[in-house]
This record gives sequence, C-alpha cells and structure tokens, in this order.
Amino acid sequence: MTVIDVEYEQPACSTRHAWARVPVEPSQSERMHLKEKITRLLKEKNAVMVSHFYVHPDLQDLAEATGGLVSDSLEMARFGRDHVAQTLVVSGVRFMGETAKILSPEKRVLMPDLDATCSLDLGCPITEFSAFCDAHPDRTVVVYANTSAAVKARADWVVTSSCALDIVRALKDAGQKILWAPDKHLGSYIQRETGADMVFWQGACIVHDEFKAFELQALKAEHPDAKVLVHPESPADVVALADAVGSTSGILKAAQSMDAKLFIVATDSGMLHKLRTLNPGKTFIEAPTAGNSATCKSCAQCPWMAMNGLADLARVLETGVNAIDVDAAIIPRARLPIDRMLAFTAALKNGQPVGGLIPHLGAA
Ligand code: SF4
Repeated sequence: MTVIDVEYEQPACSTRHAWARVPVEPSQSERMHLKEKITRLLKEKNAVMVSHFYVHPDLQDLAEATGGLVSDSLEMARFGRDHVAQTLVVSGVRFMGETAKILSPEKRVLMPDLDATCSLDLGCPITEFSAFCDAHPDRTVVVYANTSAAVKARADWVVTSSCALDIVRALKDAGQKILWAPDKHLGSYIQRETGADMVFWQGACIVHDEFKAFELQALKAEHPDAKVLVHPESPADVVALADAVGSTSGILKAAQSMDAKLFIVATDSGMLHKLRTLNPGKTFIEAPTAGNSATCKSCAQCPWMAMNGLADLARVLETGVNAIDVDAAIIPRARLPIDRMLAFTAALKNGQPVGGLIPHLGAA
C-alpha cells in the first residue's frame, strides 16, 4: 500500500493537505481469486455492487458482471435506492456512500475504504458553509452531490453534473437567485450557459483543476482531427477548447455519437476504460495535466477513487466492516434536496413539465 500526500484548496484558508492510501495491484491469480470470492459473497449476503466510472477497471467490470451498475453519481444514487438488495457495496468516494445511505437508511451501505474522500467535500466544511448561506438569505442554495450529508441538509437542491444545467435553468426561469457550492469551475460554467444570477463557493476538484489550456492547445495542434471532450469541473479556458462539454455520462454519449476516430478527454483517467470498451473503433487519449505551465498534482487520476481495491471489497463483504453511518437526525433534511433532484430528472426524462417541481425559496 502507498500513502500519498494530496494538496487541496479550502476557500479563505491556505492550501491544505490530506492523504490517500492506494492499494497494491493484485497479481493476475490474486485478481481472479478475489473476483470469484466477491461474486460468491455478493450472492450469499444479498448484496449488489455500485461503482463509479473513475474507480479501477476491475471494480467497474465486476459490478456489471454481477448485476450491479457502473455509472455517474446520479444514477448510482437512483440505482441503490431502487434495487431490492439489502446491502449496497459502493465503490467510489465517501459522499457517494452517504448519498446511498440517505436514500436507503434501512439498507446496509459498505465501502472498500471509508477514508476515500473528495477535495470538494473536504473544502466545504459545514460551519463555514452555513455562514456563507446565512450571508445570502435571499438565494436558493444549490449544492453539488460532492458534499457532506450536513452540507446537503443545509441545501434547497442537490445536483450532479449531469442535471445541474437543467435544474439551474428552471430555477432561473422561476425568478430565483442562486448560491452555488462547492465547485467554482462547474458553477461558472453553469452561469455562462444559463445566465443565472449566482454567487459561488470557491472549491475545486484536484483532478479537473489540473487540466491546462496551453498544453491542450498544443496537443490539439498535433492531432487536428481529434475531438475534445471536457468535464465542466475543468477551468474555463479548458472548457473553451471543448467540442463537447458534459458529465461523465454526457462524455460517454458524446463519444458514441460524434463522428470522429480520435478523442482527447479531460476528465479522470478511470473514464477511459468505459470509453474504450464501448467504442472499440475509436482512440482516446488523456488531456494534459503536465507541461511547462503545469504542476500535475493529480495527473488526471483521483487519489481517493484509487483507494478502492478488490482485496478491501472482499474484506468488507466478508466481515461487514466499513458500513457508512449518517446521523439519523439529519437524514430527512438531507434527503429532501436529493429527492427534489431525482423527481426533477425523472420528470425531465419522461417529458413531463418540471415547473411545478420548483418550490418557493424558504419552502424547505
Ligand atoms: S475526481 Fe475530483 S470531484 Fe471526483 S472524487 Fe476525486 S477530487 Fe472529488
């Protein structure tokens, strides 16, 4: 196991340090043995795997092979809530496990490593965030899913990158002004796209914040036929170079629908596994995080997503350790803005009107 130091920014504070422990890659025979063991334990324990696109390919493939799901955080939440299994094994980072528990408090939610966190969550502590909200009482509070249960409980809406644009647009149409947290790049992208009146918490994702426009331009010049796919947690000058901007699921759709053979991808490198599996005739290369103008703190791989491994997954299934616990007192309030998001996206998907799903400010 390797323990690495991770730098992140907390608004109004200097650079902070966190850590991540990354498991050693198992050998081929260990890998096969662990996969067989996990498959057996999932059946015995009435459990299902839910994995994020950014975790190790083994955990993505195993989730699908055993009837679970590989997806973005919105679909992970929905799938976990609706599945009959009484144990959910969430491979991702802590806020994903917490969201699953908030939506299904009666289920057991296990994670390979409970210390797998996120710079957006770390950089938005509830006390400071509450003070920020108190300073803007006239604004609807919209928070990204990458936040603690306590921050969600202070929000009017929770959004993911796949539905944030639609929800903010609907709030703007309803005449509401917005307080957005925690990702400043995603927030400013949404503001540019919707024209909504927004104030921002100044958090950032340590992976996407590292993509560099100067180097991306140089790579584009080397590959003039390549299309550029960018996650909107990236800086504005990187987003400006994109042929398609979208969440992880949006990037997948764009890669499948665009008539190109070569793509440059600005999101966590874990995403390349799914992109390559679904598009065997196409080539995907990572957008640059290193170069003359870069520091490459993360090198396009989230250190906390990398904490998820087969051995820990087998161990938690076998022993029941690493169960997510969310304070029962805040679950109902934290669930409210998540339920709003799920109802909104379900209506949108079914072509139903969404205006009636926007409550007046202060209705929470
Ligand atoms: S990739 Fe960025 S947003 Fe996603 S969990 Fe890691 S630090 Fe958080």
